[in-house]
Amino acid sequence: MALGRESRYSRQILFPGIGERGQERLTQARVAVVGCGATGSAIASLLARSGIGTLRIIDRDYVEPSNLQRQSLFEESDAAESLPKAIAAAGRIAAFNSEIVVEPHATDLVPGNIDSLLDGFQLLIDGTDNFETRYLLNDYAISKGVPWIYSAAVGSYGATLNVIPGQTACLACIFPDSPRGIIETCETAGILNSAVNLVASIAASEALKLLVGQTDKLRTTLFSFDVWTNEHAEVAASKPRPGCRACGEHNFVHLEGEGRPHITLCGRNSVQIHERQRPVDFHELTARLEPLGTVRHNDFVLKFWREPYEMTLFPDGRAIIKGTTDTAVARSLYARYVGS
Ligand SMILES: [Zn+2]
Repeated sequence: MALGRESRYSRQILFPGIGERGQERLTQARVAVVGCGATGSAIASLLARSGIGTLRIIDRDYVEPSNLQRQSLFEESDAAESLPKAIAAAGRIAAFNSEIVVEPHATDLVPGNIDSLLDGFQLLIDGTDNFETRYLLNDYAISKGVPWIYSAAVGSYGATLNVIPGQTACLACIFPDSPRGIIETCETAGILNSAVNLVASIAASEALKLLVGQTDKLRTTLFSFDVWTNEHAEVAASKPRPGCRACGEHNFVHLEGEGRPHITLCGRNSVQIHERQRPVDFHELTARLEPLGTVRHNDFVLKFWREPYEMTLFPDGRAIIKGTTDTAVARSLYARYVGS
């Protein structure tokens, strides 16, 4: 039974910053969440409950037991089935708000598909865990004049920044080069779910301000907070940095895709292979792999175990191979078991 919009959103409409008019704008809003792990889950959940009319959720990964400590849209059954996070998230959201449209895409956001995945969305939310995708998102957002919200959490620390093209600083203004190699990750530093929820709450609030048109209330700093030490900081970001590669010179190197590696490390002792679209018949491949190891599949993923490796394959042929960080080993395993 559908709940009346009136009753579902009544407490939010009572809040003067939203009101009837604001709620109407939220109902019409189209927001894309890129990455649906910890921060992406938390922000998507808040926005979905707030009544954002259309939410597109893009994520390349599948649910694992170690996600459940902080990735609030997932349950044990999702991990048991290795469901793609986008699919699991859409199912969970439908259970608490069936009145909005959720469009899941279990895919890796790359230069070749970013136009088709993000075209027509008025706000982009960063729920990723890597700077490669964030720079891509930043270049895309600046080139199209679409606002986006950066958010990150690691250890007990969270940070978030609003990027409004033509007004504020962008990600490349503040971090001209990827801090890769020096920043800690969830794999090395662990992560507290409270740091995730803090940064997600702030990012979701900023999203609401933007969508209802209260842009004068938007924060214009890179905000960071450590929930364990209570240290916090705000770095001014109200103006673009003169000479910025992205928003100053419009040099969108991350959109010009072809130099981008098709095989990437993706944390957790694993390698992702996404060389080209190669539709895979899960039934046929299951029959072929059964004599070689343990294999099972559902509509969304096929998993194959052969010690010491675990391969997760998606219908478009993309694979995540766990048990190695050597891209040559991963490529040879892929060739052997899927095809070259
Ligand atoms: Zn910039």
